[in-house]
Amino acid sequence: MEQRMCKCGLQAELKTSWTDNNPAMRFFHCSKDAKPCSYFEFIDPKPTLMQRNYIVKLRRERDALEAELRIKKWECNELKESEEVAWDKAGRIIVENHEMEDELKILKEEMKRLKAKCWWKNLVLCVLVMWLVVVVV
Ligand SMILES: [Zn+2]
Repeated sequence: MEQRMCKCGLQAELKTSWTDNNPAMRFFHCSKDAKPCSYFEFIDPKPTLMQRNYIVKLRRERDALEAELRIKKWECNELKESEEVAWDKAGRIIVENHEMEDELKILKEEMKRLKAKCWWKNLVLCVLVMWLVVVVV
């Protein structure tokens, strides 16, 4: 790779221009961030009008594809997030179902116990009524 020195005596930085007038043309310029010198030199030959138009067209197509890719990535992330939310909800519903099943089991046991208690009370009441009937009659 060829190297150039700028007017400051520093190694010049190589970049590529993507302007419509000089698309895909590499150039050297001063590498200083603050107060760079005026050194500037294209190293690629100037493209013909047809080449330039073709490069500009390709660059615009690439930009459009990159924009579409960014949107698709964003949509993909949205889908992933909504999938995570859905899994989270499903997990919570499963936990709630287990809790409700446990509660139902406890209630069924309670009902069984109450029914048994009721059955015993009814039997006592029945015997009492029969006794009264027998005593009165
Ligand atoms: Zn310089």
